[in-house]
Amino acid sequence: LGDDSFRSAIGEVAAILEDYWEDLREERLPVTPDLHPGDVRAMLPDCVPVHGEPIRDVLADVRRVVIPGLVHWQHPSFLGYYPTQPSPASVVGELLASGLAVQHMMWSTGPAATELEEAVLDHLAVALGLPERFLSTGDGGGVLQDSASSAVLVAVAAALYRASGGRWREHGTEGRYRLYCTDQANSCVPKASRIAGLGEPTQIPTLAGTCEMDPRALHEQLAADSAAGLVPAIVVTSVGTTGTCAIDPIAAVAAVCREFGAWLHVDAAYAGSAAVCPENRWINEGVEHADSYAVNCHKWLLTGPPCDAMWVADRHSLTAAMDIRPPFLRNQASDSGDVTDFRDWQVPLMHPFRALKLWFVLRTHGVEGLRAHIREQLSHAALLADLVRDSPGFELVSHSLGLVCFRLTGDNARTERLRAELDATHRILVTPTTVDGRYILRAALGSRLASQASVRNAWALVRETAAAIPEGRPA
Ligand code: PLP
Repeated sequence: LGDDSFRSAIGEVAAILEDYWEDLREERLPVTPDLHPGDVRAMLPDCVPVHGEPIRDVLADVRRVVIPGLVHWQHPSFLGYYPTQPSPASVVGELLASGLAVQHMMWSTGPAATELEEAVLDHLAVALGLPERFLSTGDGGGVLQDSASSAVLVAVAAALYRASGGRWREHGTEGRYRLYCTDQANSCVPKASRIAGLGEPTQIPTLAGTCEMDPRALHEQLAADSAAGLVPAIVVTSVGTTGTCAIDPIAAVAAVCREFGAWLHVDAAYAGSAAVCPENRWINEGVEHADSYAVNCHKWLLTGPPCDAMWVADRHSLTAAMDIRPPFLRNQASDSGDVTDFRDWQVPLMHPFRALKLWFVLRTHGVEGLRAHIREQLSHAALLADLVRDSPGFELVSHSLGLVCFRLTGDNARTERLRAELDATHRILVTPTTVDGRYILRAALGSRLASQASVRNAWALVRETAAAIPEGRPA
């Protein structure tokens, strides 16, 4: 650290973050930087210095080069993708975890970290109103993955293990097993299907006029595949699709899965956090029949990335699929079967201490604090939906939880142009999706630094930008 003490360096980090958050709250920074590829690289040192530099010089470069070159995900007018909003408590927990540097791939390499993670996931499941079968006190249990993508991948492994009666470990997929989802499932679902050797998923149509899986069509497809000698291994549903935050009808889908013995995974990466409020629990109706469920705490639960909470109803299907026991990992505690070894719940061997930041968030905000956060974001989304509805020339396409989807009336080209012109302002970010060939802009409200005033300002910018776009042909 040069002449700086660790304490003073951490003090400067705290100052950088406090200044950063204040600059964002006051919208003193743009949302996206105005940069060309290579601009940032040109401002960085050419190579590793021969002799170490004082850490204060490195921190100065963070203020000078790094922060101005970032897309500011926590900015009130960052409305793209889905949010990422760590609260200060999460940052403190993450800092502590990085200093403790525990690697609890097994209980024996980190007993406190393992048991804390189990407890935190049980507590979070209760706070979200998830079914008892996911708790580690019974046959279920939770784990922190890095991402919703990892969660779906390990769910596929568990499903293949179960569907094949264990044969999959030795013989692979043998061209027999199938994964099902809709075209609205996140791209991580087909990716998991391909990585697992299942090829492209079978796409189930959506209910007319919605982006939700059609359970009848699912039934027909599974019946046809079973008759043809294929094995329906897993159905992946979404509680909150990426495109429009559509909620699949889990209860009806679960009934089909039960009939054909297929694993049911629920990807609630974004919307799952909303269930911390009892009035939003309808989104999880039927989840008591799911085999696995995942929510990204790094999206909407005030926790820094990466932090995906995943639960399974029967942990043995998962650990039997993933179990590895080379001699160097053997130990008495694992052999006793009395402990949880997270190496068998995930793809990597190492398991970082992610639970600490989540524990800090849960304890310092409390259930009521988390509910207040979600309710505030929902009120911002409701305000934006009203503003869209009241704006001539705009169409409110959908409003689900914190996501508002809109477009300009007329052909797609007008909305595409609106997006390009908004991008060029660098003062707002919205991201697109297409539904039934219609180009739509998504605004995901999630900044903990936002206010009703910032939502109104963001919408004023959209209207002002749209005013310069000529009327087109009706769509
Ligand atoms: N599922 C849904 C519904 C998402 O919206 C996203 C990302 O936005 C993902 C999965 C992928 O999440 P991750 O980046 O954690 O893999």
